[in-house]
Formats: sequence, structure tokens, C-alpha cells
Amino acid sequence: MPADRFVVSTSIAELRRMLTAARREGRKIGCVPTMGALHRGHISLFEHARQATDIVVATIFVNPSQFGPHEDFSKYPRPLEADLDACRAANVDIVFLPAVDALYPPNFSTWVTVERLSESLEGRIRPTHFRGVATVVLKLLNIVQPDAAFFGQKDFQQQALIRHMVRDLDLPVEIVTCPTVREPDGLALSSRNVYLNPAERRAATILSRGLRLAELQLRAGNPQTQAVIDNVRALLQSEPLVQSDYLEIVDPDTLAPLTQPQTRMAVLLAARLGATRLIDNCLVELADSKSTELVGGLTEAAKSCLR
Ligand code: AMP
Repeated sequence: MPADRFVVSTSIAELRRMLTAARREGRKIGCVPTMGALHRGHISLFEHARQATDIVVATIFVNPSQFGPHEDFSKYPRPLEADLDACRAANVDIVFLPAVDALYPPNFSTWVTVERLSESLEGRIRPTHFRGVATVVLKLLNIVQPDAAFFGQKDFQQQALIRHMVRDLDLPVEIVTCPTVREPDGLALSSRNVYLNPAERRAATILSRGLRLAELQLRAGNPQTQAVIDNVRALLQSEPLVQSDYLEIVDPDTLAPLTQPQTRMAVLLAARLGATRLIDNCLVELADSKSTELVGGLTEAAKSCLR
């Protein structure tokens, strides 16, 4: 494959031919699975892949099996031309754009379930979601056979579950988790932000402010995670347009809820604004969970919640 060619392929066989040739030439392959409606969060994954690998494969596939029956599969945004322009501008080499029946042939009946990790948090509200995610990601990893695959921290539970699946099934791929890209006011970029009306968009900043408050309180040495949760919940409740779905402080690997703070913690939340569901999270890593000198070590994000 010429190094400067931008290829869009809908065919598994064609993609495999190109990638087999690239692999034979010793080139490292990076894969970035997406559902399209690309924004700067996705672009940052392409950039991480560009830096770490030689051939960047973006996949764009709105995966029906990860949507529940009453979710937004049919109205999920699909701005294909703009997405292809964005991929080209980000120096993606290959865009894989399969049709639904290419990935789900008639009588498709093999599913991947990552037990436990798929049942809490998002899984409690969207019971078949992670079965769909794990299955399609395994299929894409099998098709592309990348050296590394890049996911966003924005979907924290998803990347934890994929890491677990890769470990359990001995998949020969490195999973790279890239930081969440945010709007200047803190809102995490999401393809679903386009659903928010102006008032909801303004209200949505409370999610990242809630996370900053949690980070601040955990870093300040609050001895009980429940007290932190109560304080953040009170902040979220102060915004009438926001209905909180869950707010938990968990171990970042097992996603088990924590009653006591520990050195590494993830704060995960989901909330509804009108008909739109948004998720967000932050990872809190304390050098020493007992230290009281941490105020000086607050991240810029946490400090700004004091302003
Ligand atoms: P999606 O198209 O929503 O399935 O997302 C595709 C990938 O982009 C997933 O790995 C997401 O975690 C990642 N992603 C989505 N939003 C962001 C963001 N704001 N910052 C970084 N990565 C993101």
C-alpha cells in the first residue's frame, strides 16, 4: 500500500489484503474503532495512533447490537462525508466502513459477554450494551489484527471491559487508553452533545464540575467515599435540567465500588438532560492517600472548581 494513499474500504477481504501486505513490510498497525460523527476526541485517538504506529485504520460503524430497543440507533448522527474529510485531514490511512450485514451475517449467533464488568454502572441501565460492544470490538480486532488499538478514557467502563476481554481471550494487541478531550467549559466531547438544546448544553457543564469537586475532595483526604458522593450528588441536584443516573467511586480496574479511598480511584457518572444521556468520569491517582499536602498538587481541573 503506498504510504500517501487514503483508502476507504467496505470489504473485509480487501481490508485484510491491504493489511497483510503492510504487515509483511514490517509496518505496525493501529486501529481506532468509532461510530463516526467524529469530533476532536476521535481525532485525538487518530493522533495517538499516528504517533505509535505506521498504518492507522479508523473504523466507522454504528453498531446496532450495542443499542437497546428504545435507544437512538436510527437517529444516531451519520455525517459520512464530513467524517471522511476529518479522517483524511488527520492522516488516517484506511477507513473501514462495513455495512451491518457484513459484520452481522444472517443467523449471527456468537456473542462475547464479559461477566461482572458488563453488569454494573452503564450495564445496569443498558443490559445488552456491553455484549454488543465486546462482540463488535472483538470482531474488529480479528479483522484488522492491529498491533495496538486506541480507546478514549471518556468511555471508562468500555476501555476497562475491553482490556479485560483482551486479557481473558489472549488477544495479541496492546490497548491504549487516551485522555478525554473536553470543551473549554469542561463538557466532555461526545457525538451525542448535538442533541442538547442551548439550555441543556449550558446545564451539562455541571457534570465535569461534579467530577472536579469529587477529585478535589478525594485529594483533600476525605476519609469516606460516600461523603464525597453525597456532596457531588447535591451539586448535580442543584441543576434542575440534570437527572443523575449513577454516580460511583470505583476501583479503576475491577470497577468495584469503594467505601474507602485508595491510591487509584475512578469517579464515574451518567446523567440525563431531557432525552439525552451523557456519561463522564475522572481518574484520581494519589501519590499517597494519607498526604495532607495534596492541595498544592491539585490538577488545574480540580482547582478551577474552586473559582
Ligand atoms: P464512539 O464513536 O462514541 O463509539 O467513540 C469512539 C472512541 O472515541 C471511543 O474509544 C471513545 O471512548 C472515544 N471518545 C469519545 N469521546 C471522546 C472524548 N471526548 N475524548 C477522547 N476520546 C473520546
